[in-house]
Amino acid sequence: MANDASTVFDVVILGGGSGGYAAALRAAQLGLQVALIEKGKLGGTCLHNGCIPTKALLHAAEVADQTRESAGFGVKATFEGIDINGVHAYKDGVISGLYKGLQGLVASRKITYVSGEGRLSSPTTVDVNGERYTGRHIVLATGSVPKSLPGLAIDGDRVISSDHALTLDRVPNSVIVLGGGVIGVEFASVWKSFGAEVTIIEALPHLAPLEDENSSKLLERAFRKRGIKFELGARFSGVEYTATGVRASLENGKQVEAELMLVAVGRGPVSQGLGYEEAGVATDRGYVLVDEYMQTNVPTISAVGDLVPTLQLAHVGFAEGILVAERLAGLKVVPIDYDGVPRVTYCHPEVASVGITEAKAKELYGADKVVTAKFNLAGNGKSKILKTAGEIKLVQVKDGAVVGVHMVGDRMGEQVGEAQLIYNWEALPSEVAQLIHAHPTQSEALGEAHLALAGKPLHNHD
Ligand SMILES: Cc1cc2nc3c(=O)[nH]c(=O)nc-3n(C[C@H](O)[C@H](O)[C@H](O)COP(=O)(O)OP(=O)(O)OC[C@H]3O[C@@H](n4cnc5c(N)ncnc54)[C@H](O)[C@@H]3O)c2cc1C
Repeated sequence: MANDASTVFDVVILGGGSGGYAAALRAAQLGLQVALIEKGKLGGTCLHNGCIPTKALLHAAEVADQTRESAGFGVKATFEGIDINGVHAYKDGVISGLYKGLQGLVASRKITYVSGEGRLSSPTTVDVNGERYTGRHIVLATGSVPKSLPGLAIDGDRVISSDHALTLDRVPNSVIVLGGGVIGVEFASVWKSFGAEVTIIEALPHLAPLEDENSSKLLERAFRKRGIKFELGARFSGVEYTATGVRASLENGKQVEAELMLVAVGRGPVSQGLGYEEAGVATDRGYVLVDEYMQTNVPTISAVGDLVPTLQLAHVGFAEGILVAERLAGLKVVPIDYDGVPRVTYCHPEVASVGITEAKAKELYGADKVVTAKFNLAGNGKSKILKTAGEIKLVQVKDGAVVGVHMVGDRMGEQVGEAQLIYNWEALPSEVAQLIHAHPTQSEALGEAHLALAGKPLHNHD
């Protein structure tokens, strides 16, 4: 096999998604020689099949809702329907602008970009297109793909994954969404706003089951009001084709029919057949195992992003990629506190959180050591103006710091930046209560929740 390089790179990165390209950009910035290998499109899932396209769809959905509800704001407009080609053109325009920008960034940092499918051939080499790329260090960043359930075939037509849903050429009349996690509820929200009948099937007792139970319940209430149906604690047992679509069966005997079914039961790591195990890299159910510095058991190999068993979020991939680049460049790095990572589900209404849930806090500190406070958005002027409902809930260790911020309401994702500073700086409620929030903004609601926790509520109704 030809050795591409006379060059031995400092770092060879396999996979150009959020984790891989962040590692490449930071490593190059620190003066390292970097090769970045990508078989698809630079930017990976987040840019092409994940965060960005879904958020464009959700924004189009918001415009549709606002148009339908415009009379309630005294604005005359008629909602005539969804032009799905127009929606895709808008979404694709956003993606292509960002894609060009990212390609330019990678080129400007003098990163050797290799287009092709790579395979780890030893602890220091990756083979691509018949060439061998050698690095003093290797970073594995091959990401994840949609998972299914045993025996459930995704045909891309009536039973689809999020990848198919993003390019669907129509608004379906009705959809079953299998899985009430982040991806499932976001698509449910979009389709309902676009005019489809939506039923979510979730095996666990709540939608958004990883969130604080209060947030899940508020989301369920809001979805019920919007006419989104859901079956909770309901285990899926099978699907069959009907004359016009699909029929899903549940273990409790219920059946749900729709035009198509989205399978949103999570994503699994891309690690099979890529030479990882042959190179001695330890894995668990396909996930590459790493320590808190993203180092695998093989000294020359690190791994980041959805491929490792941490939170499957783009900004986690960015942070892990940067951490690895800085470590390889000899900088002092600090392990990531994953509880301090902000999490947003961008449906209508949004669910945003940082820190731990009330249940987890009670488990860690004891029930009598945990204090909570809530602020209802009904008491927040800007939320009233926007006609959104919801709540901010805080979890505090008695006489100590705020350890959880849980928010439900439109645009609450935009509040999570302040919430993460509060959590990560271990702020006391009394310290946050000192800070003055601009009126009228939704950020005031976060301030008011801290006023309540500090014992001096302002606009709280008891
Ligand atoms: C529908 C959806 C919505 C999402 N929304 C959000 C959101 O709003 N916010 C958020 O933070 N996260 C969101 N995510 C998650 C986010 O997209 C992922 O966490 C993130 O993309 C993970 O980055 P990564 O680099 O680990 O993997 P990926 O982005 O999957 O990148 C891996 C890359 O490796 C390449 N690759 C794989 N194998 C090889 C090989 N053998 N050779 C060469 N290249 C290879 C792939 O082509 C891919 O480009 C969403 C995901 C989905 C599916």
